[in-house]
Amino acid sequence: MRLVSFDDYRIGVLTDSDNVVDVTGLLPELPAEFEPMRMLLLIERWDGLRPQVEAMAASESGVPLNSVRLLPPVPAPRKVYAQPVNYKAHHEEMQDSPWSGTAPQVSSDQGMFLKASSAVSGPNDPILLPYSDRVIHHESELVMVIGKGGSMIPVDDALSHVFGYTCGLDMTVRGPEDRSKRKSFDTFAPIGSCIVTADEIADPQDLEINLWVNEELRQHAFTRDMIVDCKNQIANMSWVARMEPGDLVFTGTPEGVGSVGPGDLVTINISQVGELSARAQARE
Ligand code: MN
Repeated sequence: MRLVSFDDYRIGVLTDSDNVVDVTGLLPELPAEFEPMRMLLLIERWDGLRPQVEAMAASESGVPLNSVRLLPPVPAPRKVYAQPVNYKAHHEEMQDSPWSGTAPQVSSDQGMFLKASSAVSGPNDPILLPYSDRVIHHESELVMVIGKGGSMIPVDDALSHVFGYTCGLDMTVRGPEDRSKRKSFDTFAPIGSCIVTADEIADPQDLEINLWVNEELRQHAFTRDMIVDCKNQIANMSWVARMEPGDLVFTGTPEGVGSVGPGDLVTINISQVGELSARAQARE
């Protein structure tokens, strides 16, 4: 099933004919200030709600996708985990790069980092570039959306904690500061356009990632080349910080990172998962 957030934080199922069926009515009313958390509630209650969501999606025709305004599918995650330097070829390109002061170590040594959850943006949001005199890179990444939470999740059980998958851009200012600064600017975590539920992805290590800037293909890779695979990321990260429903895990970028400037249209496509485009502009 493909799920979207749209308009005023409503939740929809994307049908095979790309219509949106609004299933918001299956969830309790929320005060307006808490509506951005509605997707967290759906994920939390998914096991009980799924049959009703499926029935509603099958019986209603919905409205055309282009008649709604898509939001990031998880507009307000509690946490955004990320895996550094997780593809060998990206490790190699970064070792020779002028962008980082010290040569990065490989992912299995480095573990994890956190991006500010307020950096999340969606398919209709610009990527706001905070500097005009610094190198700002795109990083195309498969993103896991956590379903059932947990602490110290065993590797063998880890993929059962995945609610679904989406496309993500781990936007990054290159330079010497801590990652949490360089990767946490507002709009530096575009995700979407939809969540594909985990039952539709037989193997998250068998996906193809492509990223274009305007018409130019910059990144082309396969998730089988991750250094730390998805299930081990969940085990490692939850060993540190307890996972909660709706948390996001950016699983690392392959080689081919490059700079993004004002006006550039950045598009990521992941096989079986979908596509996300966002245009960069200078921050006022
Ligand atoms: Mn990254």
